[in-house]
Amino acid sequence: MTIRTVSELVEQGFEGIENEISICTDCQLHKTVTNRVISKGSRSPKIVFVGEAPGKNEDETGIPFCGRAGKNLDAMVAYMGLSEDDYSVINTIKCRPPNNRNPLKSEINACKPFLQAQIKLLNPKVIILLGNTAEKAFCNGEKLDWGAPRIVDGKYTLLKIYHPAALIYQRSRIEEQNTLIDNNRHLWE
Ligand code: SF4
Repeated sequence: MTIRTVSELVEQGFEGIENEISICTDCQLHKTVTNRVISKGSRSPKIVFVGEAPGKNEDETGIPFCGRAGKNLDAMVAYMGLSEDDYSVINTIKCRPPNNRNPLKSEINACKPFLQAQIKLLNPKVIILLGNTAEKAFCNGEKLDWGAPRIVDGKYTLLKIYHPAALIYQRSRIEEQNTLIDNNRHLWE
């Protein structure tokens, strides 16, 4: 295992972090990964969306949020009124867990320096946590209420909403998700 501090990663910049992720063997997921899924979107965003773990399509392409969940994310971004320059998308962990199981705590912790360094470099106003796995990486076991913003260290706001994949099978949640978004528009508008 390589010991990487967040500040060392930040010093390396985006490309350095990408290189480190591409050679990382810090958890068992490196043994089964096809493509590591690093990020997409703006490098100076107002908002960073943090997903869970790469799924099958992402593992095949290396692109976060492709496939059906990606279409729901695109619809959500349009509903929020964001342009391409406004946001960026990253995952809590960068390698796909076999059979799409939930990431283990040890895997989330092993990947956390990459996540923290990406956030530091992206420096968003708002971090939108898409579901419970992202919450685990940010909140050390503490639970956030859905759609209830929390300011962290006076630097940025955390907001937890539903993961776009959860909207595929529970269409009734789309309206609920839109209400959570409407209640928080002031954070990015
Ligand atoms: S999931 Fe993260 S910590 Fe685990 S091997 Fe991939 S890049 Fe490294």
